Amino acid sequence: MNHLRAKDWAALKPPLLRFLDACHADFAAETGGNVADYIPELGKADPDHFGISLATLDGHVYEVGDSRIPFTIQSMSKPFVFALALDTLGAARVENAIGVEPSGDPFNSIRLNADNHPFNPMVNAGAITCSGLIREAKGDGAFEYIRSALGRFAGRELGVDEAVFTSESTTGDRNRAIGYLLRTNSVLKEDVSKVLEVYFRQCAILVTARDIAVMAATLANRGKNPVTGEQVMTPYAISRTLSVMTSSGMYDYAGEWIYRVGIPAKSGVGGGILAALPARLGLGSYSPKLDSHGNSVRGIGVCEALSAHYDLHMLNRSDDARNSIIADYNIGKSPSRRSRRPHERHILATHHQAVRIIELVGPLTFSNVDYISRQLAAKPRPQFVIFDLRRVAAMTRAGVRLLAEEFQELAAFNVTVILSGVRRSSADWKLIKEQAKGLTNLRDFYLLDTAIEWAEDQVVYRHGGAIDFHETTGLSEQPLLAGLSASEIEEIAALGAMRSYRSGERIVAAGDPSTSLFFLVSGVVHVSLPDGVRLATLTAGTAFGEMALLETYRTADVLADMSATALEIPLDAFERYREKHPRVGERIMRNLAQLLAERLIVANTKVDLLTAP
Ligand code: GLU
Repeated sequence: MNHLRAKDWAALKPPLLRFLDACHADFAAETGGNVADYIPELGKADPDHFGISLATLDGHVYEVGDSRIPFTIQSMSKPFVFALALDTLGAARVENAIGVEPSGDPFNSIRLNADNHPFNPMVNAGAITCSGLIREAKGDGAFEYIRSALGRFAGRELGVDEAVFTSESTTGDRNRAIGYLLRTNSVLKEDVSKVLEVYFRQCAILVTARDIAVMAATLANRGKNPVTGEQVMTPYAISRTLSVMTSSGMYDYAGEWIYRVGIPAKSGVGGGILAALPARLGLGSYSPKLDSHGNSVRGIGVCEALSAHYDLHMLNRSDDARNSIIADYNIGKSPSRRSRRPHERHILATHHQAVRIIELVGPLTFSNVDYISRQLAAKPRPQFVIFDLRRVAAMTRAGVRLLAEEFQELAAFNVTVILSGVRRSSADWKLIKEQAKGLTNLRDFYLLDTAIEWAEDQVVYRHGGAIDFHETTGLSEQPLLAGLSASEIEEIAALGAMRSYRSGERIVAAGDPSTSLFFLVSGVVHVSLPDGVRLATLTAGTAFGEMALLETYRTADVLADMSATALEIPLDAFERYREKHPRVGERIMRNLAQLLAERLIVANTKVDLLTAP
């Protein structure tokens, strides 16, 4: 076998990067279009520059070509300042000032809608109004406030191209005309020249294709920057921003764009295009030559190719909710790992349908929870339902709302709901608690096995059984010694010494040499792997450390759950006894084989539950 060296790994290239490379090569050959020059300084851009960047929602950023060349953001600032206005002034104030209908006019048209308000925040009238609103809230600090917010979207501090700012400021009379029109209609309350200064400066903020990709990915990620992890804006502001990008983001090409490409986007006359596909990715491209609509020619090509090649149109989606349940069983099929006494075993066997366990996987969405609720309704109603969420990757608000409603439904039938696999410190837990406010039938245990054990205990109590932490009087109940005569058991007991343990004390440590075996006489202990996975809970009448008969080193820890006593028998004394009494020795080894076989059957059932189609 050849061993792979680090260099061989490095040679493996993600296909998405190969695709972006190929796009770059293909569209670099495209030289049509013209560099914008109505802002004179923009005319100086190098028409050959071409950079593409794609940011994923796990925070990876692909870059191809001139992805680090700075250029001015121009109209791509509009969505971000709109989101900022929504979060700063409140939706009502902003939505009263600016409409959300496509205008059908050019971006710089000097026209308002029938109410004398801007058509939407993606045309200049709407964007200038947004800058005015920020000025209303932040006064002379307005521009810095905007610059810092855009920096949080990009994940780094952004600078300004003073030359482009001055150039636009000295030639931007058309935008001033829009400003005065807004002011005379009382949409703008601030001094027009001061608002325009903010607007021109925000358009002159410098970004790279990489920055734009990260900013777009933040939009695609409900406002959480996937690279820095910062929640930059509220999900409300982000979803409304994506809405106006969808209907009006690409100048008078917006309808065609969303029809063909199906990804919310915004372009700027500086040559940038940003595209944000919700829950998937953010794309940034830079190439200064524009088509007749004002969109970057190569940028359009890249977005169209990406959408077509991977079938990314946002309205071309489907999902199968049936994959959300990985295992659905009751305690008859897979009980907890607690050793049970005969009367407990009997009650649990009779009422095995009382506890149902549903192990979930993937995201908890509207469709998934709806499907789960129908699976619950399809079988006899249990008294306890355990939802194991440890493999749930994410929860949507709709999913959690529906789940809380399902809890309510179960409560009405006196079914107790138990959650496992979700930490109380997690955001998911907070979300569930928020939605399930006032519910009294909800319990939680982080470990699934603890949850099952708790539910089993309740079933035992309900059916008159007691879970007493009884003491065994001798070793006669021990399955490992089954079939031995009273005197043989006595001889074995005489080999050892009685030990007492405090609650929490470690009795056996994984990795230590196996020098003895134990018979639990009172109390409860548990066996767990060094990583914390609980393998079994043992009560009086069972043995532990008995693997010493087969293994030289301990493979698991044993800890006392409460004060406990056990008879510890040194392995060498036990071995000497076995040699002297080969028939007894053989019986004990057969018993051990029997116990291991039972454990194997339980383990196989678990594997089966998790892998069954
Ligand atoms: N600052 C530019 C303007 O208002 C932005 C235009 C654009 O990128 O669409 O004219």
